[in-house]
Amino acid sequence: MAEVDAARAVAKLKELRSLTGDELGAQRVAWTDTWVRAREWFRGELDGIPGVRVERDAAGNVWATLPGDSDEFVIVGGHIDSVPNGGWLDGALNVVGGLEVLRALADEPRPRTLKLVDWADEEGARFGRSLMGSSACAGTLDPGSVRGLTDRDGVALPDALAEHGVELDRMHESGAMLDGAQAYLELHIEQGPILERMDLPLGAVLGTFGVERHAVRFTGAHAHAGSTPMDVRRDAFLTAARSALAWREDAARRDDVRATTGTVSVVPGIVTAFNGTCEVSLDQRALDADVLADMLATAKADAARIAAEEGCDVAWERIWEIEPIPFDATLIDLADEVIAAEVGTSHRLPSGPLHDAAEMARRIPTVMLFVKSLGGVSHTNAEDTPEEDLEASVRVLAALTRRVLGRT
Ligand SMILES: [Zn+2]
Repeated sequence: MAEVDAARAVAKLKELRSLTGDELGAQRVAWTDTWVRAREWFRGELDGIPGVRVERDAAGNVWATLPGDSDEFVIVGGHIDSVPNGGWLDGALNVVGGLEVLRALADEPRPRTLKLVDWADEEGARFGRSLMGSSACAGTLDPGSVRGLTDRDGVALPDALAEHGVELDRMHESGAMLDGAQAYLELHIEQGPILERMDLPLGAVLGTFGVERHAVRFTGAHAHAGSTPMDVRRDAFLTAARSALAWREDAARRDDVRATTGTVSVVPGIVTAFNGTCEVSLDQRALDADVLADMLATAKADAARIAAEEGCDVAWERIWEIEPIPFDATLIDLADEVIAAEVGTSHRLPSGPLHDAAEMARRIPTVMLFVKSLGGVSHTNAEDTPEEDLEASVRVLAALTRRVLGRT
């Protein structure tokens, strides 16, 4: 059995960085020339592996297939695209790590077929729609919802796709690529501070958070700061502030959830009056749908109680929601086991950001591996991970892939 060359993965990541980045960071924005250059580089690497077949699907995703005894296959996925001035690891680690796994497995018997996919436009950096290629493949991309998108130069999304040989209305045909898929594996940098804080290199990802995002409007009555006694005020800002504190307390007493008040607007917003209207945002996240529903119900009850105490009214409007997407329990166990075997200790954690894996989890058993991000920083040139941890992550991806390929 050939050992995966994890050091070469790091060297290849640096090669890709110098080929497609500048002093501000990675510039591999999807549907641009630099992205095409990155994919040509990737294609060149794949062409050097004996027995690998490369094809592009209707959504512009690039698939490399290493045939096995059975047509059933395991997918390793990533995205070579980046945000502008992005980091060298986000998405690229998954692709380049997968490349080395493919190379290592090319000359050994494989009970199942192995596929490596480079998803098109994970970041949505040019047109604002993330997970384009993987959502088309999963069947959740509604062409009507993106047809009118334009970039900052006014170029329409369908035209940019066409320039790269992709027809928006045929992108869903990519879904046929999943016929026969048994499992989906994705290695990614954590992009958050949890693993570094625990001084651990790697973790198994439980799934991606569900989100409840609301605008909450508190209404009282504004009046003069000097003439209105304290006990008769209906101060909408203070009502909102007390509510936001209650939402934070509720989240703090639960495990691994988030509650964030990110925007505040007040009327009249002058120094000589208290405010009659205050609108705030509430963004709640949890991995469990029942927990998320309970958080929302609790937040509404807290706001209603506080509003009554303060003589104000409160109204809720949902801005956005997405359900939690849990990964496969058996694959999480396996990932945990493989990480512990390689580096001694594993940790299970949810993912705050969405990933292509969330789209795949709707269709096939899926798991992700997270590797530590220094400072929890991503989507900037400062994004980094110690090289020894990057190498460990590639070895773990190889071990997990072997285990899943051989599973009966
Ligand atoms: Zn990513």
